[in-house]
Amino acid sequence: MLKLILFGPPSAGKGTQAQRLSKKYGIPQIATGDLLRAAVAKKTPLGMKIGSYLDSGRLCPDDLIVQLMFDRISKSDCANGYIMDGFPRTMGQVEELDKVTEIDLVLNIVVELEALVERAVGRRICGECAAVYHVKFSPPKAEGVCDECGSALVQRDDDKEHTVRNRLRIYTEETAPLVEHFRRKGNIIDIDGSAGIDGVFDQMVEAIERREG
Ligand code: ADP
Ligand code: ZN
Repeated sequence: MLKLILFGPPSAGKGTQAQRLSKKYGIPQIATGDLLRAAVAKKTPLGMKIGSYLDSGRLCPDDLIVQLMFDRISKSDCANGYIMDGFPRTMGQVEELDKVTEIDLVLNIVVELEALVERAVGRRICGECAAVYHVKFSPPKAEGVCDECGSALVQRDDDKEHTVRNRLRIYTEETAPLVEHFRRKGNIIDIDGSAGIDGVFDQMVEAIERREG
């Protein structure tokens, strides 16, 4: 059983690493952003409510997110663990999470905030399989085409610069304080996010194996 949280500011590399860790350890990546966008695309009542928050770059209310996450981690593919990517983001969410499960390890990606705008603005996502690329730091083999499935890559609407800066501000105010909560629990490890994608991955694997050791 391996229950992980990937923590860090937007564009720190959570999704990129979650995909790699998911392949290595055979546990699903649970990206709140993807769950939210899927709910919005299906136009469920919950999805319609959520959509108005996402468009503006604001956080969704805790009760909506928590409902969505709990439904997801109770599915059978989570029996051996999972990787949470983008959850929890507020004190309210982490308090709810503590009531239902104990997380083994929080991998805290630490990066200078200035570097993150460039990462976000250059990010490209596969429209089909959600693989993550970067025009400079992690380009696909053929421009604009997903290595994994051959579909077209797109830029997310919320990766426009002003939305990115807004997300960073919200992170600093509402999400960064959770680090203190994890430190009190003693299950957080800092990862140097300025290392390249491989360097960050190696640090994470080392932290996981040291803990399982
Ligand atoms: P998050 O899920 O934390 O928002 P992503 O994994 O989507 O972040 O990464 C944001 C962008 O930065 C992507 O385009 C990704 O390819 C790129 N990236 C991720 N990790 C690194 C890294 N260690 N160095 C440089 N670029 C990175
Ligand atoms: Zn793809």
